[in-house]
Amino acid sequence: MSELILFWHRRDLRINDNVGLSQAYQQTSRVVGVFCLDPYILESDQIAPARVKYLLGCLERLQESYQRVGSDLLVLQADPVTMIPHLALTLNAQAVFWNQDVEPYGMKRDRAVTTSLQEQGIKTQTFWDQLLHAPGEILTKGEAPYKVYTPFWKNWQQQEKAQPVGNITQLSGLTFQEQEKVNQMGRIAVPTLAELGITWENELPLEPGYVAAKAKLEQFSDRAIADYDQNRNYPAVDGTSILSAALKFGVIGIREVWETTELAWENTRSDEARHSIQAWRQELAWREFYQHALYFFPELADGPYRREFQNFPWDNNQQHFQAWCEGKTGYPIVDAAMRQLNITGWMHNRCRMIVASFLTKDLIINWQWGERYFMQTLFDGDLAANNGGWQWSASSGMDPKPLRIFNPASQAQKFDPDAEYIRYWLPELSSLETEELLTGNFSPLERESLDYPQPIVDHKQQQREFKRRYQEQKERD
Ligand code: FAD
Repeated sequence: MSELILFWHRRDLRINDNVGLSQAYQQTSRVVGVFCLDPYILESDQIAPARVKYLLGCLERLQESYQRVGSDLLVLQADPVTMIPHLALTLNAQAVFWNQDVEPYGMKRDRAVTTSLQEQGIKTQTFWDQLLHAPGEILTKGEAPYKVYTPFWKNWQQQEKAQPVGNITQLSGLTFQEQEKVNQMGRIAVPTLAELGITWENELPLEPGYVAAKAKLEQFSDRAIADYDQNRNYPAVDGTSILSAALKFGVIGIREVWETTELAWENTRSDEARHSIQAWRQELAWREFYQHALYFFPELADGPYRREFQNFPWDNNQQHFQAWCEGKTGYPIVDAAMRQLNITGWMHNRCRMIVASFLTKDLIINWQWGERYFMQTLFDGDLAANNGGWQWSASSGMDPKPLRIFNPASQAQKFDPDAEYIRYWLPELSSLETEELLTGNFSPLERESLDYPQPIVDHKQQQREFKRRYQEQKERD
């Protein structure tokens, strides 16, 4: 019987183009996957039903992939800090392999698992998989991590990118006796959402699993990537990839994604199309920038990067927050976007910026409230990208030009000029003129008759007030 390696999956829910798994496979053909549904995460207040549904679907697909090549994915509902070492010891595994994480909780958990395994004499090997460039690979001339995106991007784009790693074609798994032992340890079938006490009835923006993610990537690169730069800011246009959840959970490998952009590049001679491909790659670089930032500055997860925001005098009005969450602010573009989020679990990037600016600058509510609400609703909710997006919008983050305030009406006029998006998500307003929908200039009486709320604040007044407080804070520091 060949030696057994356990491969611990976390944000790499696939067997293709998986750095750590492919390394395990090179050492032995007896590789078994394991995933722990961590009670700490399941019981936290940062759980989104749509995201859990996507995760469970991806685990089912991953288990099928393992079974197809002759092995299995073991799913356990348990704290990995105790379960992974216990499982490795019970199965007499030679080693446990995994791909590294950048989140503070994940890094602390991994250190604890490593210590415990090493105390039991079980080897560990870890790899970087979810990024094209691992933290530490992209540094300033002074060997420091970047705090500003543009120079990071310039450096990042010049570095050579790795090719996808070999696919797994054949593995062997556990013996009958070993399977019995694992069953006794509490191995479960991938639970349903209902079994976890969570409800999400709506369709997901992307079907779970590698096959769906790969199809989406191909469809995007055949059709939309060439026009990405022209279309990406228009929420009524299907112009972005909607691969964010697949990238968050590593359902598709980042090297495979990059290779697809290279093919798209080679298949066109148009400067415009190549410019668009480059624009999409810049988004992939934003994803990596925020992950590097979180890795080097874990304190970002707990609060504002800029000092002047440490004690910012937020209003934190509960009723206003509730209205924002429910899409009842009386500002059509904001409400349309919040409805999209609540109904689909996804929101267009332009709209994420609009609603985040509205929460922080118009309602003067702490951006961390919005950050938490997004984690509770987004199917692609990801600590690094979400925190980065919120700190950027709140002006509290790593940004050389930090004070920006979005005017909801001008944003709608520019990016939803025919009010198509607003009409789709706010059908009760569809009888109004386009200009009324964009500016929100329709009478209180009309609002009442359409059962649509009056604006909960005045944009101009709130903008002045925010700037005043911001200036005061800056002078105080
Ligand atoms: P595409 O436009 O097709 O971009 C391709 C990929 O690049 C995305 O799938 C994503 O992985 C990455 N990406 C794109 N834009 C960004 C960005 N600004 N920052 C980091 N990565 C990016 N993205 C998340 O993945 N999870 C989040 O929780 C999240 N929260 C956000 C919160 C706020 C306030 C803001 C302003 C942005 C947030 N974003 C988040 C970034 C961005 O909105 C989404 O990644 C994007 O809308 C996903 O749609 P897509 O896959 O069609 O993107």
